[in-house]
Amino acid sequence: MALIVQKFGGTSVADTGKILAAANKAIRETENGNQVVMVLSAMGKNTDHLISLAHEITEKPSTREMDMLMSSGEQVTVALMAIALESLGHKAVSYTAGQIGIRTDNAFMKARIKSISTDRMRQSLNEGKIIIAAGFQGIDDDLNITTLGRGGSDTTAVALAAALGADTCDIYTDVDGVYTTDPRVVPEARKMDKISYDEMLEMASMGAGVMHSRSIEFAKKFGVRVHVRSSFSDTPGTIIGPEPEDGQAVVCGTALAKNEAQITVRGVPDVPGAAMKFFSKIAEANVPIDMIVQNASEGGKTDISFTVSGDDLLAALDAVKTAAAEVGAGEVLSNDSVSKISIVGLGMEHRRGVARKMFHVLAEAGINIEMITTSEIKVSVLVSREKAVEALRAVHSQFQLDRPVAERTLRFETADALPAAEPYAVKHSSELVAYMTRMEDTIIDAVALDSGQMRMTLAGLPDVPGNAAEVFNQVADSKIVVDMIVQSDASGNDAVISFTAPRMEDDRLTRLAAGLEKTHGCKASWNPHVAKLTVRGTGLRSHTDLALRLFGALAKAEINVSIINTSERSLNVIVDESSGGKALELLKEEFKEDML
Ligand code: ADP
Ligand code: ASP
Ligand code: MG
Repeated sequence: MALIVQKFGGTSVADTGKILAAANKAIRETENGNQVVMVLSAMGKNTDHLISLAHEITEKPSTREMDMLMSSGEQVTVALMAIALESLGHKAVSYTAGQIGIRTDNAFMKARIKSISTDRMRQSLNEGKIIIAAGFQGIDDDLNITTLGRGGSDTTAVALAAALGADTCDIYTDVDGVYTTDPRVVPEARKMDKISYDEMLEMASMGAGVMHSRSIEFAKKFGVRVHVRSSFSDTPGTIIGPEPEDGQAVVCGTALAKNEAQITVRGVPDVPGAAMKFFSKIAEANVPIDMIVQNASEGGKTDISFTVSGDDLLAALDAVKTAAAEVGAGEVLSNDSVSKISIVGLGMEHRRGVARKMFHVLAEAGINIEMITTSEIKVSVLVSREKAVEALRAVHSQFQLDRPVAERTLRFETADALPAAEPYAVKHSSELVAYMTRMEDTIIDAVALDSGQMRMTLAGLPDVPGNAAEVFNQVADSKIVVDMIVQSDASGNDAVISFTAPRMEDDRLTRLAAGLEKTHGCKASWNPHVAKLTVRGTGLRSHTDLALRLFGALAKAEINVSIINTSERSLNVIVDESSGGKALELLKEEFKEDML
């Protein structure tokens, strides 16, 4: 007898007919001798409707009452589902999160799960009942109702599957699986048979709305097998698990985060701890930041740019302005008409030229890149929102994502120079659940130091389509394997590109710099001795407190950070080589409790 968690999204329970159809999927599993826990979303667009009612009254409703309001949507669906199952002659019981005991912290509208008690559910299952749990909601220590953030029912489902040790978590939705990109935006997108946790987590975090990214953190941490499939057919969907798709695509998919915003702070004093002030204020406001770019300093001042989700812009700006006043920084600028396009793939870790190809594709399409960041398994670029869909289509097509992996002809050279990632060992879930006092905490796998790098910064690049592509073609022609890349241009100014690469002899560096200056009319500066510190784990970008602790530890020791990049799998910072060893010790100490 297997235990199966089935989650149905809004469209899949949009009316009573669909509720009955979903009920039949649960019944079929029980008739096969399995136990079933259903997790449901609000019907159709009911959550949107509830939010708009509140906004008819005020722009800024309190978050506690928003959770009270929004959680009501799921309560309707679970009751109707129980009524449907009973009417079909089956035993069923609906539960709110409070009744099950899904405990969260008290961050209303973004609550994180602390613990789930399984006793009541086990008892109902033993009584032969189908359990119907309200998705998206939780309860805090003071018995306030909380919600997990939009799309959070996926997270409820995977968390219940983890806590109960379910055999599978089936996500029934309005597409029949995970595609190489949103098939509504790019009709040529291809359905994948499987995708690895790391890739799905990055895709979801970068905008692939098919799964709530936090649900994938749970899945990876607790080894839950997730099957994304259609509510309206029986075709096999996509398995999210430890393995990537067969053939190991270099790029498995591309994601669009349409509604992004860019914030730039000018004239930040370039002293240890100044950047940290901004990130801590933003982290306190519980806003994840992405694409952090800190330009090389001029005259002791530097500019910092980063992106946040458009929904978080106001909260982030409040925090940034407070920090800017505290550290004596200059203007704070923002641009909320940008979108982020990311390519994701585990295979990128061992290939060179992938980022370069992406810049080239966009250059050919005449699309200007406003910002760039790379990490081991993704490249993200920021473009103007009006060009975003065109950019997504171009990238999808040029990386041949519409074809099965085996039929792709695009080849990239193998890069042996960068160390290969260690395979992630999935821990047994019950062992982990017992270990973790807060289920949604992050686990850090490793803190590592690579002290053999150099950094080069090119300032004053003309802000026109194609310059990143040309710079990195030229760098590649010099047989240099680039590791991290960041680029920023603050609203129409000249662009600044920084990159790191394995250390090289001084005369080679000087030649490279002179060549780049000559071709691009820019100013090159470099540090031949830098070190890269990496903190690896799961869900690092969205757990804002971790970046905060990382910067805090370094700032306290007066270690200055020159490049930062983040992904769900790692936080990377570049420091001067002389501080590398000390920084490593500090970070090991800081995160020792978070490692298994
Ligand atoms: P549900 O209500 O079932 O949770 P969602 O609307 O949250 O459904 O998620 C399903 C939608 O996600 C699809 O209709 C599709 O438009 C969108 N989507 C975005 N990226 C992808 C992708 N890579 N693969 C499949 N669907 C995607
Ligand atoms: N009903 C909630 C929402 O619309 C949660 C979910 O659907 O996952 O965001
Ligand atoms: Mg969803």
